[in-house]
Amino acid sequence: LANRAFHPEDSVVDVSGVKVGRGHLALIAGPCSVESEEQVLEIASKAKESGANLLRGGAFKPRTSPYSFQGMGLDGLRILCEAKETTGLPIVTELMSPDHLDCFNEKVDLIQIGARNMQNFDLLKQLGQLDRPILLKRGLNATYEEWIMSAEYIMASGNENVILCERGIRTFETYTRNTLDLQSIPVLRKLTHLPVVVDPSHAGGKWWLVEPMAKAAIAAGADGLMVEVHNDPESALCDGAQSLKPQKYDELLREVTQIAKVI
Ligand code: PEP
Ligand code: MN
Repeated sequence: LANRAFHPEDSVVDVSGVKVGRGHLALIAGPCSVESEEQVLEIASKAKESGANLLRGGAFKPRTSPYSFQGMGLDGLRILCEAKETTGLPIVTELMSPDHLDCFNEKVDLIQIGARNMQNFDLLKQLGQLDRPILLKRGLNATYEEWIMSAEYIMASGNENVILCERGIRTFETYTRNTLDLQSIPVLRKLTHLPVVVDPSHAGGKWWLVEPMAKAAIAAGADGLMVEVHNDPESALCDGAQSLKPQKYDELLREVTQIAKVI
């Protein structure tokens, strides 16, 4: 179902009125984790002014250490919904547990499946029953074929609204958090008809890598960007080092829009 051979046209995924694909860019911005109402509202309103069209924020966080901040949970989701009411931005947040399928289906505009759950096949099958579009991140060391097959699990179970998200893969390099695989953009767009967006924040792990990699991703044909933006990165509870301040995000979007025009 994801195969380009049986579906030559690029797909457009509608995220609560925001179109993604075929020239429509998903400009997803927001903090790694929801930390408070004030934090999310401030970031969301600034990001919207800059041109973001979707708001991200983790409520349930897949942290490597069980002692790290695990997210605000359902309280975090409530804050995202409030930010949506205030700004009008549809929300993107990660689903980790099947226990929250109904709640996410009701409240979340674009359900994110994180790298660590890309091959959680039972969860993928259950996403097929939902009405909401899915943002499927690439697994930490997933091949293109494995990633596409995970999209296929969701689609074969009944939900064809899938957006792929390249977020960097594990390589021998340890200077950067991951290695952004820019080649995945043209390859996935050749093999599938699904929109492909890029998350340069989790790829590089450093805020100053976000701008050059975001520009390169758009130049390579990406259908959007997911960027971590924080009003006070130094005190962020998660991923501050890779988060842009709102002012930098504003500058980034201005440049990215210029590049998108000539693509
Ligand atoms: C995230 O986007 O917050 C996240 C945890 O990303 P990934 O699953 O790509 O590590
Ligand atoms: Mn993060």
